[in-house]
Amino acid sequence: MSEVRRQAAALLQRPNWGWQDEAACRGREVVLFFGPDGERQPEREIRERKAKTVCAACPVRAECLTYAISRPEKYGTWGGLNEDERSSERRRRMRRANAA
Ligand code: SF4
Repeated sequence: MSEVRRQAAALLQRPNWGWQDEAACRGREVVLFFGPDGERQPEREIRERKAKTVCAACPVRAECLTYAISRPEKYGTWGGLNEDERSSERRRRMRRANAA
């Protein structure tokens, strides 16, 4: 296979979404994980706590978190972590990878 065809094939590869079939959040209100516009901090904390409770029992939590960390997912609760927590986790994983 030529280099051009190999690169085109790589670009056309779709991510594996299979893990989402097992997601505990399937069928749940999206707003629980992303929040409404203009949400105030106290409501946000309550909502995130509820979302994290769902994530804690999710069988694909690790896959979800790895997916969200590997992409520019700036918003929402993924894998039981909010935006700030994912940024910290992303940095932690990068430090660990660089140290290896
Ligand atoms: S970890 Fe949370 S956001 Fe991710 S698939 Fe599971 S329930 Fe949904």
